[in-house]
Amino acid sequence: AKSAGRNRTALFDASMLRRVQRKAELEVGLRLALETDQFHLEYQPIVSLETRRLRGFEALVRWQHPQEGLIPPGEFIPVAEDTGLMVVLGEWVFRRACQQLAVWWQTLGREAIPSLSVNLSRTQLAVPELAERLNSIAREEGVDPSAIHLEITETTITLDPDQAARIIKSLKAFGFKIDLDDFGTGYAAMANLHMFHVDVLKVDRSFVANLHRGREFTAMVNAIITLADNLNMTLIAEGVETDEQVAILQSLDCQFAQGYLFARPLPADHVVAFINKHKAQ
Ligand code: C2E
Ligand code: CA
Ligand code: CA
Ligand code: CA
Repeated sequence: AKSAGRNRTALFDASMLRRVQRKAELEVGLRLALETDQFHLEYQPIVSLETRRLRGFEALVRWQHPQEGLIPPGEFIPVAEDTGLMVVLGEWVFRRACQQLAVWWQTLGREAIPSLSVNLSRTQLAVPELAERLNSIAREEGVDPSAIHLEITETTITLDPDQAARIIKSLKAFGFKIDLDDFGTGYAAMANLHMFHVDVLKVDRSFVANLHRGREFTAMVNAIITLADNLNMTLIAEGVETDEQVAILQSLDCQFAQGYLFARPLPADHVVAFINKHKAQ
């Protein structure tokens, strides 16, 4: 028994060591990636369930590693957050998204893409004068802040609700819209929701994935929809993959949806084709 215990310790140490090494490797890689332009954005459409009209896109960052290929954000964003690099990366994402929106507005007209959503990391919320910085970047790139939705996760706002409420207020003062991301997965945000004055709730994919399983699951989503309605917030269902989910969401009066059923995140140069095809439908 004693030697088994030792073995377990040894295994644990080995996997911990591998994790630490991987993290160090990613950190070095991320610094280089920022210097050498290895990131790009993809854009996933958000559509109205009532009219099927396009409401906008969510920008999602991609890291094309020269040796390893595409590394998923779920792997490198936590490292970027722990090493302080997320602030630089987050600002790059925001500027790039604004530049792209300005180009689309010039070529397609503003009505073609009413809004663009950009994710904010918890570490960005600690940046002094975040709202002023984002506002100047948007203006520099020729974009009106009221067309930009900033997505903040429910988990992030529950880390420090007072700070989050202050920052949301300052962002909204410049006209930015605030979307509460991954809603339903965190704790206590429900109780504090009135504090935040968010514009949109994004119902987490895990709820949508369970909708077909019956009444208990539709009841939960229905409760979130009712809550959003009563607080004058818009609702977006995330991770919609099937027609059955669309039918259930429509029966619950869910306004907007995003997911593979409509489109996967698209490279920028596929967006115009998507818009034209979508309009024709
Ligand atoms: P998220 O903000 O919840 O973004 C939605 C994620 O769900 C994206 O994964 C998207 O590709 C995926 N998705 C969309 N529709 C479906 C669907 O129908 N089924 C399934 N299974 N998945 C779907 P992605 O791009 O891998 O991003 C993962 C997470 O990484 C994001 O989750 C977000 O938390 C973070 N992230 C991505 N880009 C950024 C960024 O620029 N800044 C920050 N701070 N975080 C980002
Ligand atoms: Ca998001
Ligand atoms: Ca989400
Ligand atoms: Ca998520």
